Amino acid sequence: TKWVYSFGAGRNEGRADMRNLLGGKGANLAEMASIGLPVPPGFTITTEVCTYYYANKETYPAELTAEVEAALAHVESSVGLLFGDATKPLLVSVRSGARASMPGMMDTVLNLGLNDITVAGLAKASGDDRFAWDSYRRFIQMFGNVVLEVDHHRFEEIIEHAKLTRGVMEDTDLTAADWQGVVSEYKEMVEEVTGKPFPQDPKEQLWRAIGAVFGSWMNQRAITYRRLHEIPASWGTAVNVQAMVFGNMGLDCATGVCFTRDPSTGENIFYGEYLVNAQGEDVVAGIRTPQPMSKGRAKPGEKPMEEVMPGAYADLVKVRETLEKHYQDMQDIEFTVQQNKLYMLQTRTGKRTAGAALRIAVEMANEGLISREEAINRVPPASLDQLLHPMLDPKAPRTVLSKGLPASPGAACGAVVFSADEAETRAAKGEAVILVRIETSPEDIHGMHAAKGILTTRGGMTSHAAVVARGMGRPCVAGAGGITVDYSAQALSAGGHIVRAGETLTIDGATGEIFVGSVPMIEPKLSGDFATLMEWADQVRRMKVRANAETPLDADTARKFGAEGIGLCRTEHMFFDPARIGAVRQMIMSETEQGRRDALAKLLPFQRDDFAQLFRIMAGLPVTIRLLDPPLHEFLPHTDAEMAEVAQSLNTDLATMKRRGEELAEANPMLGHRGCRLGISYPEIYEMQARAIFEAAVIVAKEAGKAPVPEIMIPLVATTRELEITRAQVEKQAAAVFAETGTTLEYLVGTMIELPRAALNADKIAENADFFSFGTNDLTQTTFGLSRDDAGKFLPEYLEHGIFPKDPFVSIDVEGVGELVKIGSSKGRTVKNGLKLGICGEHGGDPASITFCESVGLDYVSCSPYRVPVARLAAAQAAL
Ligand code: ADP
Ligand code: MG
Ligand code: MG
Repeated sequence: TKWVYSFGAGRNEGRADMRNLLGGKGANLAEMASIGLPVPPGFTITTEVCTYYYANKETYPAELTAEVEAALAHVESSVGLLFGDATKPLLVSVRSGARASMPGMMDTVLNLGLNDITVAGLAKASGDDRFAWDSYRRFIQMFGNVVLEVDHHRFEEIIEHAKLTRGVMEDTDLTAADWQGVVSEYKEMVEEVTGKPFPQDPKEQLWRAIGAVFGSWMNQRAITYRRLHEIPASWGTAVNVQAMVFGNMGLDCATGVCFTRDPSTGENIFYGEYLVNAQGEDVVAGIRTPQPMSKGRAKPGEKPMEEVMPGAYADLVKVRETLEKHYQDMQDIEFTVQQNKLYMLQTRTGKRTAGAALRIAVEMANEGLISREEAINRVPPASLDQLLHPMLDPKAPRTVLSKGLPASPGAACGAVVFSADEAETRAAKGEAVILVRIETSPEDIHGMHAAKGILTTRGGMTSHAAVVARGMGRPCVAGAGGITVDYSAQALSAGGHIVRAGETLTIDGATGEIFVGSVPMIEPKLSGDFATLMEWADQVRRMKVRANAETPLDADTARKFGAEGIGLCRTEHMFFDPARIGAVRQMIMSETEQGRRDALAKLLPFQRDDFAQLFRIMAGLPVTIRLLDPPLHEFLPHTDAEMAEVAQSLNTDLATMKRRGEELAEANPMLGHRGCRLGISYPEIYEMQARAIFEAAVIVAKEAGKAPVPEIMIPLVATTRELEITRAQVEKQAAAVFAETGTTLEYLVGTMIELPRAALNADKIAENADFFSFGTNDLTQTTFGLSRDDAGKFLPEYLEHGIFPKDPFVSIDVEGVGELVKIGSSKGRTVKNGLKLGICGEHGGDPASITFCESVGLDYVSCSPYRVPVARLAAAQAAL
């Protein structure tokens, strides 16, 4: 095994794609050197040494010493200096570098190789005493802190004391003699704390620093970080040893960090900071104020590098171009200028905001740097979610009240309300409200829908509030434990601040922050780069994307986001309207068919109107309408007053109503009298709904010229006979309406596949179906035998312990539910070639599930309106 890889000075043994062996930093140092960029020479001790170290009682492979000596000798000869030499001392940095950048690892030690003798050599060779002593004190400080674990306050105290006695403010005002004094005090202090003199032997310094890097792989900070980010301990870290270059040698020296494009907006501008006469982490340490890179970004009084060091800046601009061309992505780089000469010390792919990722991808494709396909692949679909909601104006002032989890992106502002009913009432009057609950339950859905935003003080990222809010596209902050809600006092408090019902709050669902009062917002822009990327995505994707929508508002939003039809219109959502619920209850509570028919006659015009509105918005596009699905008891009257009202409409008494209510109660309603079972028991319900659909379709076809394509969907089918019966009901209505109106329209009748039996018998069911839509919410419940509404009690624990790798209601369980989808699809298509297949429910908007749908060959996915762009992009990525 080779344990050490050289880079720079014409010996580049590593490459960017060797990150597993060399770590990210080492691999990219080698890559930069090999494409001719100015990288100080050095070598990387591989991650395999780290693995060996821990597998062999913290010892090194036998060959390591010799390999390090040889690599060091090559560095010495290439820069013409000698490690530990009294007159021409070579100094090095010792830097850790894992595969993935990992906070928690050992900090870099700079200027290693200095001691009481070499410091004099450095002073003489550089002709600069101050520089030499400044470097030495930095070295003792870093080595003392990082390797010897002396608290950094002990060093700072000594510097502060030196500045005080000298009467100066800045480190830069201290002279060579001052630093020399600081060095002696440092050494004394280190000896006092560690019980041993500061190590003077450069070789000992080097091996102890290397040992400290490997040792830090198992420190508590690193272990915790790995656990949180699922990084295996077996990866190990590499160690980079590199010849020093000096940014602290005078006014023609500097050090800086920058991004090749603006990481927050994505703008194609050199973005970063530098400091003259400084070293290493000074830029981020906040000792002095760093200055901007380019003139364009400089505020009055600032000294941009472009002006101060035009030569080095020009070189850096060239490097920037080279790096972007080479890596074909935005880079985050670290550099140092020594006597006007530029050196590159690090490059890596730059982290960026969702907005920046989008802009950079589109612009790089337009610049010809990457292909359009690559641009499509560069943007994480889920990140689009953040861009589709209003954002807080970054320039607006704000007062933070508290913080919770960023459960559903977007910002919202409104009057605080503490109940779902209150939210609905106020929203109906046109008021913007924020629904604040300790936690939410399915009973709060109407209030969540009515609210602009949702805030809970309990629950996590998969709590009811979080999941529902994301589905609805409502901004949500969940689990804000710093806030106490008092329902009876109609007030909340956080850190002594009290907010009463009706007062205004602003929440930011992307950060989890909660603000007092209203903070101005910026509306999302669906044009520009966003539109461009969507257009490219649409060109490559195979699957269509539809929306789950029942209100005209949702349907409009869906169209705006590019939905190509409705994949799921849940008719029962229209039943809760105050103008209709009376008739709905009358229908349910009636004990006779005639009673039900009277009630249904009242509902027909409402339903017809609902469907007509949807058909107008979706003119020419398919609209899948699911006939009544939920257990009837969901609509039951609750209070005596409500009962009495229904009793009156049915000409009966309260006692009869109560008895009927008890009759309708079910032990397990999700598996009870619902779906097509209702249509079979009470054919008049599906008849009315089918009639309303066809009448609406005829009306819209006549006025618009563009006929809608109704796709009537029968829920909860287990056997083909069920579908046969309900299908006949629908067809009878179609024939009747077409005869009455003299208009014939195209339509489809299909079914949801949401029971395992249906999936397993899909070939038989397909004989009566024009399409299948996989209802993966119910299919997940019925496959796992797991109630969605009760899963919250144990699902978090299952996820935490990895018993379920993912929440199966969020991302499709490929092995189980997915297998049923596969079986259903292929069985269906063996009977009917080209049978139309889709998916509706949460999974239709989840990128991983969409990838699965592509692999099965579904024709479309359907998801909530706000997820439509996410699905368009994910479908494109899946197709590439
Ligand atoms: P981190 O991983 O925390 O960014 P680095 O190993 O990149 O740590 O080191 C931090 C900084 O130290 C670098 O950005 C650079 O300014 C400085 N540095 C590291 N090695 C050298 C070197 N050989 N010469 C000059 N400066 C160096
Ligand atoms: Mg650092
Ligand atoms: Mg770095």
